[in-house]
Amino acid sequence: MELHSHTEEIFGSMVFNNAAMKAKLPDDVYSALKDTIEEGKSLDAGIADIVAKAMMEWAIEKGATHYTHWFQPMTGITAEKHDSFISPAPGGKVIMEFSGKELIKGEPDASSFPSGGLRATFEARGYTAWDPSSYAFVKGKTLYIPTVFCSYSGETLDKKTPLLRSMEAISKEGTRLLHLLGDTDVTRVTTTVGPEQEYFLVDRKLSYKRPDLLFAGRTLFGAMPPKGQELEDHYFGAIKPRIQAFMDDLNEELWKLGIYAKTEHNEVAPAQHELAPIFGTTNVACDNNQLTMEVLKDVARKHDLSCLLHEKPFAGINGSGKHNNWSLSTNTGINLLSPGKEPAKNTRFLLILAAVIKAVDEYQDLLRVSCASAGNDHRLGASEAPPAIISMFIGDELEAILGSIEKGIPYEAIIAKKMEMGVNILPDLAKDTSDRNRTSPFAFTNNKFEFRMLGSSFSIAGPNIILNTIVAESFSQFSDILEKADDIESTVLEIIRDTLAKHKRIIFNGNNYSDEWVEEAKRRGLSNLATSVDALPKLVDDKNIALFTKHGVYTETELRSRCEILLENYSKVIRIEALTMLEMARRDIMPAVSKYLADISAAAIAIKNAVAAADCTMQEDSISKISALLAQMYTQTNALQKAVDGAHFHEENVQGAAIYYCNEVLPKMNALRDIVDQAEVLIGSDYWPMPTYADLLFKV
Ligand code: ADP
Ligand code: MG
Repeated sequence: MELHSHTEEIFGSMVFNNAAMKAKLPDDVYSALKDTIEEGKSLDAGIADIVAKAMMEWAIEKGATHYTHWFQPMTGITAEKHDSFISPAPGGKVIMEFSGKELIKGEPDASSFPSGGLRATFEARGYTAWDPSSYAFVKGKTLYIPTVFCSYSGETLDKKTPLLRSMEAISKEGTRLLHLLGDTDVTRVTTTVGPEQEYFLVDRKLSYKRPDLLFAGRTLFGAMPPKGQELEDHYFGAIKPRIQAFMDDLNEELWKLGIYAKTEHNEVAPAQHELAPIFGTTNVACDNNQLTMEVLKDVARKHDLSCLLHEKPFAGINGSGKHNNWSLSTNTGINLLSPGKEPAKNTRFLLILAAVIKAVDEYQDLLRVSCASAGNDHRLGASEAPPAIISMFIGDELEAILGSIEKGIPYEAIIAKKMEMGVNILPDLAKDTSDRNRTSPFAFTNNKFEFRMLGSSFSIAGPNIILNTIVAESFSQFSDILEKADDIESTVLEIIRDTLAKHKRIIFNGNNYSDEWVEEAKRRGLSNLATSVDALPKLVDDKNIALFTKHGVYTETELRSRCEILLENYSKVIRIEALTMLEMARRDIMPAVSKYLADISAAAIAIKNAVAAADCTMQEDSISKISALLAQMYTQTNALQKAVDGAHFHEENVQGAAIYYCNEVLPKMNALRDIVDQAEVLIGSDYWPMPTYADLLFKV
């Protein structure tokens, strides 16, 4: 008897996937739609009506009453506006209707979405257009149709369009290169991504009592409890029942939406967890990750929990990232980053590897930009996440293989030498997965690269747009050389040799968290863009504008507008945090400290009244210490207020404002926090006006 699990039954049940399409559509319509999905062919308008009707009927069976064009504006989260299917019918009745036109195109008002400098040049109207390569799905009572979002004049206003363009670019250049190498049957190169998602879960009622969690998504004050993560007892630890119930529910919801949620475990910090899906095509992986972040929050709410996706919700313990596992495969089923059993003989693999090495070295700045945000600045460079310096880990074996090519020494000779020295033969690369470098920002793992700098709240679109485009550029340059070559094989080796000579400085297999590496990287001339404010303006460097326009990923105008949006966002985030701190300090914290001081003063007087000779050293010492801190708190609050007020001098200059917030406002925030955290541990616990780190981290 065949086993039919509940999971198999529910998986993808809310997705208008191939199975649903096949069941609902006439054969010819289904195959036309499949061509659109798989080969990017445009869809006939007549067919669109049939597809729309089938999609609606399917959605209604799943309980939907509305549909929405679901898009990914530059806010980094998704946007949706629901329309019901109802249409008036004679006799005051309704019928449910959904046309091909409504499926393919929408016209939301675009004026309230970030557009950077584009705001001046485009009309308020924006367009959404159906992306058939990502399945529609039903969530709640709504049919979600994945769409791209652009302005009236055609400039992109979203994250999906450039992602799709970058996938086209790498497919085009990858196919070109493979044809030159003799793989003439390849017609498409696809990038695949598996994003590992970290998050925190805290009790919802407690989190509501903290304005900082409410407005900023992270704690802006908070003293460390006696215990943090030092015992390393949370990583992979047994999952508590309340969390397990949450995870079970989460998996069920994700599976229904066709998301291959695979791995779940506790992370390093208390209350921190991770979810990893099985990888998929990049734009689908991106849609799925956006959806995963939303479902994480929804399911948490049902369990009376709050899911924190911020990069650094708590000081003093690890923050959350997102590991972007990235690889390339052909329509003929080859993983181009798979070294195979004998990587030394796999010249195609070595050439692709060289292309990635060249790309990462030449565009370190762009990779850094792709992970820049106010939130992620708290992680990059702290010794819990990769530093802001980009380097690559490829492992000793691959480095040796590449080295043998560079030096023109046969690899076999190196192996023979190692054997002579009594060292074991090189282990089979495929088995060598335990030899991991966990500190590298960009690490080769088996048959993929793991880009580890992304923040947990990020859309993976940005980093993948960069990755795809910079590697497409390497491919393009390699093809330019190979197209002119007489002998492909020797030219490939020459390219690898040249690439290494120029770019091997980017390869670093050691500890990225060490101070020596910072020094070493400086000697190697690698860039070290410490903050987002240092990094973001690089987006519009001439060489980067040239790159994106060459591959048709962004126009110069689009790039400039994006840079502006990102810088503006940086300033806004810090402003919100600063204002939240001011409010908390003035309305909650200082009054609480004051009350505690008044109470112990009164207590001391009462004690002395009872027994004149009583020892009130505790009260006296506390009063002098705490009142001094309270005075400093007041001073720092005023200093922070002044810094925030000063920002209006930079209103006209987006970059100037971001620099101001980074250099003037952030340090004042840190100074205020420092004083408040010192006071927190001196005050009676009943007096502290909000849940503490201990409450949030250990009481779920
Ligand atoms: P590890 O434990 O080495 O990080 P996993 O197999 O657990 O390796 O993979 C981590 C993530 O990488 C998962 O999301 C997985 O689906 C993804 N992944 C595996 N192979 C590929 C690939 N070829 N392309 C993209 N992502 C991949
Ligand atoms: Mg991993």
